[in-house]
Order: sequence, then structure tokens, then C-alpha cells
Amino acid sequence: MPRVAYVISEELIKQCDKIPVLKKRASMVHELIRAYNLHRLMDCVKPNVASDENLSLFHSQYYLDYLKNECTAELSFESVGSDDDDDAEDSDTSDVDDEQLNYGLGYDCPKIFNLWKFVRVIAGASVTAANLLLSNRRIVINWCGGWHHAQRDEAEGFCYVNDIAIAIQRLRTRFQRILYIDLDVHHGNGVENAFAYTRRVFTVSFHQFQPGFFPGTGNVDDCGHGIGKGYCVNFPYKSHIRGELFIKYFYKTLTEILNKYQPDACVVQCGADSIVSDPLGGTNLLPEDLAICVERILSWDLPTIFLGGGGYNFQNAARYWTTLTSIICKTREPLDNDLPDNEYFLRYGPGYELSIPRKQLDDLNTENDMETTYQTIIENLKKYNVFNC
Ligand SMILES: [Zn+2]
Repeated sequence: MPRVAYVISEELIKQCDKIPVLKKRASMVHELIRAYNLHRLMDCVKPNVASDENLSLFHSQYYLDYLKNECTAELSFESVGSDDDDDAEDSDTSDVDDEQLNYGLGYDCPKIFNLWKFVRVIAGASVTAANLLLSNRRIVINWCGGWHHAQRDEAEGFCYVNDIAIAIQRLRTRFQRILYIDLDVHHGNGVENAFAYTRRVFTVSFHQFQPGFFPGTGNVDDCGHGIGKGYCVNFPYKSHIRGELFIKYFYKTLTEILNKYQPDACVVQCGADSIVSDPLGGTNLLPEDLAICVERILSWDLPTIFLGGGGYNFQNAARYWTTLTSIICKTREPLDNDLPDNEYFLRYGPGYELSIPRKQLDDLNTENDMETTYQTIIENLKKYNVFNC
């Protein structure tokens, strides 16, 4: 089996750790993967920083110019004049001006120290993942990527740069039909918007969809625009969805799409907020449920990039991505359920285990609801004549 490439560097972890709601999460994730010795089963690849040209593959020049001119180290804190931001990890909470808000830089996306550098490093890791696929790598992991809400000209939902859309744009230089699968509990709106008008990228998002649940888009009838109509699928579900139902409808939906679309590459966003006990999510899914979905994706034997995303229970995000890493590397033995010693070990108490308990929750989704949603998706695929283009 060809070895999996794992995009990682100290700088990447340091930048990812800076996201205000995700402080140190990237460190915890990598530390657990390292403690299980999974990094030794992969080729660790140091990412490059994204170029202006890379960032322009998706973002508007206005947004990039603003980040470049207004969000560099020198301007982030008047008292800090160097580019070494090791200790300057707080977000810039100085007065928020209107121009800043125009670019979404306030509320859930406060300006962070040296945002311009952050954006180049975060996007660079997914560009590196895409370049690896372009040079014949089969499977690449980048758990520091997956920022699916960022829009062309603004930050949104803790996402400052849409590394996914940029990476997919790179992939389009070689691959004709790219399938994007979004498993985050939130709708992958930024990626869907990026490719709503094309048939060259098919986007599929499974997400919680209820009044007041962020971002509020991703209805089953939203299926692309113009020539791209039909080449976008949204599978909305309600709170407390359980593994059995999720897996069943993931299989059914993806089997249909795979047969009709026949992609030649795949990008998967594995946001960890779709795991039970996430403070911003609402499912009853376990890592092993989503691991079954990931195994199915691997069985297609397509060049594939696996990315991270949301995940606000950091311990569970680390448990989930460590579990997925072992599935993707096809380790012979399952991982020991007793967590190995690591720098963040004490945060995993009181159980100190890899597994996450399922909760006693009433699933608000019925088999009937899920079947109706599935049938609507099938009708739309037929209506818009989705075929191997
Ligand atoms: Zn999310």
C-alpha cells in the first residue's frame, strides 16, 4: 500500500493554534497522533507557504490586499514590531472599524495577530496537499485545514481563508471531476458557493439544519446554479442523529453520486464538531461511525485529501482525527483504548480513553425523514441530468 502523506510542521501547528476559539487544538491533535506513533507510518511533509497567486485562486484581490496591507505583524500590535509572533497569541481586540467588518473581521472572526502570515501558512498546507496529489500521491492528510465557511471576500464562522476552495482549484489543473464531501456538522457554505456554477466540482454536505443553527443554509433543494445546477447535494439532518441512520444515508447518497458523477479525485472535510458532545454541534455520532464512512471513501481508491475543520471539544477532536489517521493508514491492530502518555494527557480525564461514549439522546431524525430527503436528492440528480461529464 502506498504511504499516506501527512502535512505537518511546527509553524503550521503554531499558526493553527492561534485561532481564538481553537487555541492549542492543533497541538493536542498532533501530540496524540505522535503519542500513538502514527506519524511513523506516514511520510511527514513540510508545507510551503501559499503564494499570492495561490490565494487568488479563490479570494478577491480586495480581501487579499486588505489582509496584506492591514493585517501584518507590524500593524497588529503597535508595541510589537517584529514578525516573531510566538508570544503574541491574543487576538487584536482594538477598535473594530467598518472596513474591517466589511471583510468579516469582527465577532466570530476577530483580527488575529499577523493574520496575513496565518492565512498564507494555513492555505499553504492545503495547497501542499493538493500539489502532492498532482504529483501522484494517493492519500494526503492535513488536519490543520478544512476552513469551509470562508467566502471569496470575507472571513466567516472562524474561517479566515478557504484553503479547501484554493486546494480544489489547484487540483482542477489535472483532475476533471472532483468530489468534495463535507462531514462537518455545519453546512460547507463557502466551498459550495465557490463551485456552485461548475460541473467540474461536485459538492456534497451533510449537516445539521434547524432554525438558528449556523450558517442557516444548505437546504435539500439547494443544488447549485446555472450550468452547475444538480452538481451540488445538501443532506440536512436534525439534532441527535445516530450512527446507524447517518451511515445508511451516507452510503446510499454517495453510492448514487459516485455512480453518476464518476469523480477522479476526492477532497473530504472531516470537521470534528459532528462528533457527540461538541459544544457547537448536536449529533450523537462517534468517531467509529464516521470512520466507517471514511473507510467507504477509501474503498473507492481515488486520490484523496482528508482535511480537518470545526471541532470545539478539543479532546474529542484529537480522539477523532487520531482514530481516522489509523483508519487511513490501515493499521493492523486497533489503537489501544488507554491513551498513551502525552503532553496534554491530563486534559483527557477522568477516563483517559480514546473512545467516546454515545449519549442517551432522542434522535429527532426518523427513517422516514431521511428517506424523504434522500428521494429529493435522487429526483434532483435526475432532473438536472447529472452524468459523467
Ligand atoms: Zn463546524
